[in-house]
Amino acid sequence: MAITLPDLPFAEDALAPVISARTLEFHYGKHHRAYVDNTNKMIEGTDLAEADLLTIIKKTAGDTSLAGLFNNAAQVWNHSFYWQCIRPGGGGAPSGPVLKKIEADLGGYEKFVEAFKAAGATQFGSGWAWLVLRDNKLEIIKTTNADTPVAHDLTPLLTVDVWEHAYYLDYQNRRPDYLGAFTEKLINWDFVEANLGG
Ligand code: MN
Repeated sequence: MAITLPDLPFAEDALAPVISARTLEFHYGKHHRAYVDNTNKMIEGTDLAEADLLTIIKKTAGDTSLAGLFNNAAQVWNHSFYWQCIRPGGGGAPSGPVLKKIEADLGGYEKFVEAFKAAGATQFGSGWAWLVLRDNKLEIIKTTNADTPVAHDLTPLLTVDVWEHAYYLDYQNRRPDYLGAFTEKLINWDFVEANLGG
């Protein structure tokens, strides 16, 4: 089975002006597509040729001789997840079980926003900030480059891509502004709730 590029869950211009169509044209249409194409080239003719994406990620994680494949496969997974984490008219505080869980584990919505934005802003260079479940408790973490919680047996609930290609056309060097817009205007809390199992 080939690894496939999932459709974007919204039109390329649907997030503007928070994220422009131009950014999505490159971020989804070039970067994400290239990770898919590279992964398929690298697994062709190997014993991972028929494997699904999560299997490829778990079998290559931590193996420096397979770092190229891990990086591309993990980036396919991370981006497919990221698009589902955002939506037009999203963001702001959640309600229901997600809000209750944030209050219980993270001290409330304002503290979540502060910690999530800080994780994204302090990830040096390329990477991701995440809301994950570890032992059924919420935790905010960051990963470098392509690294992904699914390689570490954590359950991801939400992510923000802080590679420059995610925001540079719209925010240039102002990563904190992108993170502020992400939390205020983009987060798809229904997706987070589904990931929480609620
Ligand atoms: Mn990206």
